[in-house]
Amino acid sequence: MLTKNSKKIVIKLGSSTVIDKKGKFKTNWVNSLIKDIKKFKQNRDIVIVSSGAIALGQNYLKIKQKKIQLEMSQAIAAIGQIRLTEHFQKVFTKNKFKIGQILISPDDTEQRRRALNVRRTFENLFKLKAIPIVNENDTTATTEIKYGDNDRLAARVAQIIGADTLIILSDVDGLYDKKSKKKIIKEVTEINKDIYKLADTKINNYGSGGMITKLDAAKICMNAGCNMFIGNGSKNNPIKNMIQNKKYTKFIPKISTLDARKKWIVSSLSYSGKIFIDYGAARALENGKSLLAAGIIKIKGEFSKGENILIVDEREKSIARGLSSFSSSEIDKIKGKQSDNIIEILGYPSKSEVVHKDDMVKL
Ligand code: GLU
Repeated sequence: MLTKNSKKIVIKLGSSTVIDKKGKFKTNWVNSLIKDIKKFKQNRDIVIVSSGAIALGQNYLKIKQKKIQLEMSQAIAAIGQIRLTEHFQKVFTKNKFKIGQILISPDDTEQRRRALNVRRTFENLFKLKAIPIVNENDTTATTEIKYGDNDRLAARVAQIIGADTLIILSDVDGLYDKKSKKKIIKEVTEINKDIYKLADTKINNYGSGGMITKLDAAKICMNAGCNMFIGNGSKNNPIKNMIQNKKYTKFIPKISTLDARKKWIVSSLSYSGKIFIDYGAARALENGKSLLAAGIIKIKGEFSKGENILIVDEREKSIARGLSSFSSSEIDKIKGKQSDNIIEILGYPSKSEVVHKDDMVKL
């Protein structure tokens, strides 16, 4: 599972792997995970993405109900996160590991400049020989701007820091082959509709993820050239067990020629708008050209300059993801027009490409 080439490993712990049914932190289990990490840590950078803040906060506050309003869960997470970190701090320190806490909001990963800052912080923590412990910044995240699940968050972190391996520990052995429900699929090389059909929509006790968000995470990893594994974290020494029993699903990444920036573009969590283009423009894009205003038919959604957009053809088939050099209102004015006329229409100089080929990834 881990090869000589695995140098940067992200391990994602679901709420039910770190918090027991009574709502208590599973110190022994985390201790056994650290023992596993110790065995392969040498010369490798490790990141832990752990859920559990809300579950721990609920237990502390003796709040039993499952559905909690977002505003309240933000406050519960504020109380739970500090306790979660305290537990991690104790058990990692006992094992002579330094840790650092990073709480991430979608803006930190979805805005390029902030994503680069995030990457620098991780790199400096590695230099300080500390293990970053990551969670979503649940206390400020609102519904519209929330990861909600740590699977995609862990994948985006893996992509941003250039990790080669993401291990998702949850309460299932891997992705089950639906026919038998007992056999897990060993390897997945493409995430398509058939693979999504295998995903059980059942969600465990605490987690907000489930198999769907794990497949979304796999997509991000596969585009980023990162191996992803789903394995069972219910028993002690979860990684040792995965390696020994070879029981896990491995998602094999595509061989990617994309640079880090393009990997970041194609793995954006969502897009702010759609640009519809004609067949001529679609063909030009296929041939590696930039998108010009002349080929644009219409747009959907409102976005500012620099935001992530999806380019589709007349039948709404996805063609490319990219960063727009113009805002949606500017594109509305210049769509269908020749590039030479843009300055006259807008009244100020601008770029001539609406989405430059360097800011675009074909799908
Ligand atoms: N960030 C949430 C927490 O710490 C969990 C999100 C998830 O279930 O993945 O409670």
